[in-house]
Amino acid sequence: MKLTVTEWKELFCLIAERIEENKDRLSELDRAVGDGDHGVTMSIGWQAIVKKLEESQGADCGAVCKEMAMTFLNAVGSSVGPLYATAFLRGASLLQGKEELTEEDVVAFWQAAVSGIQERGKAQIGDKTMLDAWLPAMQALEQARMQGRGLAECMEEAAAAGEQGMKATALLVPQVGRSSRLGERAVGHLDPGAASASIILTAFAEGLRKTT
Ligand SMILES: [Mg+2]
Repeated sequence: MKLTVTEWKELFCLIAERIEENKDRLSELDRAVGDGDHGVTMSIGWQAIVKKLEESQGADCGAVCKEMAMTFLNAVGSSVGPLYATAFLRGASLLQGKEELTEEDVVAFWQAAVSGIQERGKAQIGDKTMLDAWLPAMQALEQARMQGRGLAECMEEAAAAGEQGMKATALLVPQVGRSSRLGERAVGHLDPGAASASIILTAFAEGLRKTT
């Protein structure tokens, strides 16, 4: 399986669509543990990405990712903005000059993106952040890849593990960020950042399934 620049862009447009559909739910989750803006913030960022991708002349997948990074950062200055901007920039560096992506390229993209989030956010697994969805997802992705499975199936596994990790954030006490002030009172609530991460993973897997 190979992905063209157009198919690559379409995957991210589908993510934006799914984020938009879940905008209110994400803000609702954030109202319980934060300032209630997560849905709106993600919507603003992803809608800006869609607009950029529609106008974009980015000839290769790396250029597209770089545009996504800058656009997301400009649209979403705080908190989640720099995290996803870093993710897309890290991923972009691997895809530079590529007009077509192999399955390996896509796997490497996500691994680099998630490493970027981890380094930038300085959070660990169990801290009740988006990494509680991203890290198990990457573990599942690597494992499925080692078992020789195709990309679409690998991303399905990643999305399933991400969703499981996201659901498990309800049990956690937040260790970093705004919600950490709540301490034990945050137990019983999902982490909004993990919830949106899970939406991103699920949408990407859904898009791949449609592409193949
Ligand atoms: Mg917030």
